Amino acid sequence: MAIKIGIVGYGNLGKGVETELALNPDMELTGVFTRRDPAQVPSNAAVYPLDEITDFKDKIDVLILCGGSKSDIPVQAPVLQQNFHTVNSYDNHAEIPAHFDSINETALTNQTVGVIATGWDPGLFSLNRLVAESVLPKGETYTFWGKGVSQGHSDAIRRVAGVKLGVQYTLPNDDLITEIKEGKEVSYTKTSSHKRVCYVVPEEGADKEGITKDIQTMKDYFAEYESEVHFINEAEFYQQHTGMPHGGRVIRRGYTDEANMAVYEFSLDLDSNPQFTAAAAIAYARAAYRLAQEKQYGAKTVFDIAPAYLSPKSGAELRKELL
Ligand code: NDP
Repeated sequence: MAIKIGIVGYGNLGKGVETELALNPDMELTGVFTRRDPAQVPSNAAVYPLDEITDFKDKIDVLILCGGSKSDIPVQAPVLQQNFHTVNSYDNHAEIPAHFDSINETALTNQTVGVIATGWDPGLFSLNRLVAESVLPKGETYTFWGKGVSQGHSDAIRRVAGVKLGVQYTLPNDDLITEIKEGKEVSYTKTSSHKRVCYVVPEEGADKEGITKDIQTMKDYFAEYESEVHFINEAEFYQQHTGMPHGGRVIRRGYTDEANMAVYEFSLDLDSNPQFTAAAAIAYARAAYRLAQEKQYGAKTVFDIAPAYLSPKSGAELRKELL
């Protein structure tokens, strides 16, 4: 019998979960739950008001929570955890320990499973940091993000006077990556490891020099980085800059003795950040379902879940095909 999934919140991620579920025949989408008028939500599935979700307690196996990390997940997750097994992609790194404690308490009290902070960072990047550090205890771990669109920085350039449309890509410093892999001493800081490239459609008659200066001197966003500003027209913007690509890499440069270096690298190159994040959340929803069947209640992170729980294949199939 297929695992019945509910989607809570229909933004980029919620939409991504709907798309990716079609690639997972062991799962089916029961419905989408939204705070908005369901008629306004452009899903192909049945859409219900979030207020009615408790009626679905016995009709859904796992809820995938797709609200924003800033203000939706902290409010919605603890409440929904009382009645459902859940998976989320909460990405407020500093708050993850507190979020874990809150979900764990509710999940243990109500005999539910809550898998938190799935996705790629946090998520698969975190898992790879753990594996790399465990295997190579002597060494350093580096994370690089990009090439990818930063939503926050894109919003910031759109607020600059004279900017009609704008998007910001974060690019990793490839020279630094090469130096790390070659075993050279590097000074890795957040600012030296990334560059910011902006594409701007100016309003008619706008002062381009002024826009460039306003962006490049914007504190906490661009001033601390090497930041480029390129002006393009509206047609080019809509043709080339409306996607949501992202990715990055986790590198651990370790030493297996005084003379031998070992480089562990995990990288992602994503045309669609929300679709990939959704795909990861779906695999962890399968794990949540299995953990619930085994009565392994409580909050879990990617660190706590055995990899075989992610796969629809049996242990025997996995041993034969992938070991
Ligand atoms: P969105 O802003 O697109 O959606 C967030 C919520 O806003 C939705 O659940 C929806 O709730 C509401 N919403 C969406 N569109 C509209 C609209 N047109 N009008 C009014 N409300 C709307 O966020 P994303 O889906 O892009 O991202 C969700 C979270 O995923 C992010 O906050 C981020 O933290 C996390 N994330 C995690 C990653 C990881 O690797 N761990 C990677 C990428 C993202 P409702 O339907 O109830 O109105």
